[in-house]
Amino acid sequence: MSTPRDYYEILGVARTAAADEIKRAFRKLALQYHPDRNKDDPKAEEKFKEAAEAYEILSDADKRKIYDQYGHAGVRQGGHARGFGNFEEIFQAFGDIFGMGGRGGGGGGGSVFDEFFGQFTGAGSGPRRQRGATLKCQLDITLEEAARGTERTIEVTRNEHCGECKGSGAAAGSAPTVCPACRGKGVVHQSQGFFSIRTTCGRCQGEGEILEHPCRKCRGTGTEKSRRELNVRLPAGVDTGTQVRLAGEGEPGARGGPRGDLYCIVNVKPHALFQREGDDLHLDVPVSFTGLVLGTKIEVPTLAGPASLSIAARTAAHTVLRLRGKGIPNLRGGGPGDLLVRITLDLPKKVTKRQEELLRELQSIEDENVSPEKKSFLGKVKELFGS
Ligand SMILES: [Zn+2]
Ligand SMILES: [Zn+2]
Repeated sequence: MSTPRDYYEILGVARTAAADEIKRAFRKLALQYHPDRNKDDPKAEEKFKEAAEAYEILSDADKRKIYDQYGHAGVRQGGHARGFGNFEEIFQAFGDIFGMGGRGGGGGGGSVFDEFFGQFTGAGSGPRRQRGATLKCQLDITLEEAARGTERTIEVTRNEHCGECKGSGAAAGSAPTVCPACRGKGVVHQSQGFFSIRTTCGRCQGEGEILEHPCRKCRGTGTEKSRRELNVRLPAGVDTGTQVRLAGEGEPGARGGPRGDLYCIVNVKPHALFQREGDDLHLDVPVSFTGLVLGTKIEVPTLAGPASLSIAARTAAHTVLRLRGKGIPNLRGGGPGDLLVRITLDLPKKVTKRQEELLRELQSIEDENVSPEKKSFLGKVKELFGS
């Protein structure tokens, strides 16, 4: 292993540099060696890690003192310089200087950093200004509503930013102060022999700041419960499991952080007649024996009203007839599905005397008039039993 470079040299600052100067120097280097800007340069990652390690030590007054006195050996032996395995770890450790709504950034670089480090400093990475939780709701609708599209007003019980303190949690005229135990990072490092263990700061519960004068209305939480009516528009074609997102209508983030989203999950109730399969609808329609043999015209229900359907003579039971475009509109703008009508044999439960007479007469002449299908069936039976 080569001799590590001097931390001040890495950041390009004087040994007497103030904390602000060190922070600015690191931000500049981090931007220069950012992974997104240096996809083809494997050395950039090393430079980035090197700078992060230097910043980790020099941004911490205690560690900096040890480094000033004993050099690399001092911070290595004390377990103060842990080094970083990947970018993600670096952003998690220093997310607060990358413009995550932090204080005192100075120099206007904040928005640039937000843009560049957005993917790394998203939910869960920094100790502060976290995005609020996602809310979910279920919407029960009918098949007709799913086909037409519909609108619903839902009532949500959720937290709102406290009206008194605007979500900061601090009483009027006061402001949260940087937690002295963790210096606003939300985490503390405890040295145990050679190891440095990172734990959530107990003083501020990981918030990075403490409230000396909490807001009286919300007791410092920054939020208050409220009931809200929200309008949800469901487009035509939604199905069970479709999620409709209402951006920014979830829970508010802690201490003024952005709201999470609200997801409405659709549940289409079963229909008495139609079964849905994707955008197609299935329907069973019973037709009498004579209708199947002689052919007929029937009326079938569709979601758009009754439609007329011709049954050809000698239609077998379980034949499926397709009514194009009479299914459900496609959610993504494709063509509508079809209505698949399955013809079933409507066997009468009761027959009148007259019907029975006619059926018996029909039966008596059936043998003389065997259909080709039946003939071949009887032939196979004869073959099987060798008679
Ligand atoms: Zn409040
Ligand atoms: Zn703390």
